[in-house]
Amino acid sequence: MEAGNYVHDLLGGDADLERVIESIKALGMPEISVAPGYGRLLTMLVRMSGAKQALEIGALGGYSGICLARGLGEGGRLMSLELLPHFADAARTNMEAAGFGERVEYRIGDAKDNLAKLAGEGRRFDFFFIDADKEGYPVYLDWALALANPGAVIVGDNTLLRGRVWNPEKNGPSVAAMRAFNERMLNDERLTGTILPGYDGLTVAMVK
Ligand code: SAM
Repeated sequence: MEAGNYVHDLLGGDADLERVIESIKALGMPEISVAPGYGRLLTMLVRMSGAKQALEIGALGGYSGICLARGLGEGGRLMSLELLPHFADAARTNMEAAGFGERVEYRIGDAKDNLAKLAGEGRRFDFFFIDADKEGYPVYLDWALALANPGAVIVGDNTLLRGRVWNPEKNGPSVAAMRAFNERMLNDERLTGTILPGYDGLTVAMVK
């Protein structure tokens, strides 16, 4: 048994998250939701940080959205950026079924455009979950730093790219972008960060 399956089994049944997985399959969407153990960690990090305003980049079917929303306290809200309208529709349906329909706002289109719009609106966030196109991670980090309240938490998923980040023979655009993202998350003087190497890697940093 793999470690991820062991964690999944220990976490037990979760009707809201299983509904997301089933809807993703039924709609023919990619089965690339955040791993169950990291989903639980997102809930914990949001709760522990006391975040009220969370932002995710990459909604898919709403799995991470539910995990983030579960951690938000009273009055907390999630802003979710998603490229594809039908993915956002699926995520919205699943968030509503989980009881979080009133807590989430979806903005459709390239996240880079929507991040610029949010900056123009003067919006600020306490928690960022970056889980979209891997080449975009360095730009998403720039925006997270621009939109962060002091003490904000920034999390990026799949940051080991199945080992390609440390393989010197791999140098494609996604690998180069992820190396730059991880380097900054761990060494930028504005951040304190680390990488959790389970599943496909989760890089977590706190804005000082
Ligand atoms: N966070 C989701 C979860 O765990 O439930 C999984 C997100 S999936 C790995 C990546 C998502 O990012 C897809 O839904 C994809 O359509 C979206 N995406 C890709 N490029 C994007 C972009 N430039 N702007 C916004 N969303 C994008």
